[in-house]
Amino acid sequence: MKGNRRADTKPELALRSALHAQGLRFRKDFLLRTSAGSRVKADVVFTRARVAIFVDGCFWHGCPDHGNTPKANTAYWGPKLSRNKERDKRITNELQADGWSVIRIWEHVPLPRAIELIMKTKASKSAGGRGG
Ligand SMILES: [Zn+2]
Repeated sequence: MKGNRRADTKPELALRSALHAQGLRFRKDFLLRTSAGSRVKADVVFTRARVAIFVDGCFWHGCPDHGNTPKANTAYWGPKLSRNKERDKRITNELQADGWSVIRIWEHVPLPRAIELIMKTKASKSAGGRGG
């Protein structure tokens, strides 16, 4: 199946309402600044637990299952998409160096699995953290 499947599915919206349904409080589209000087907006952020969640589109972020570079215009898309991937990696590293837990969720990941992953990360963070 080819074609453009963007506009009508908004995985980050579905994720947020599912998290709300779990009774979780979080910030959305929250701007993070790393001490290395990068700025990035995370889709969901638990500021106290320092957990940042990014819902990554399969195409733009180069998911291993669906992230193929388009055959047309490879010279344009190839470098562009690999820059996205490099940036993702760099941001993740910088945030982790600042003490954040970073969760990147491909848009194709089923919602219940995404929620489970987030709950688990958040729980381990609160248990092992300094508290408060
Ligand atoms: Zn995918």
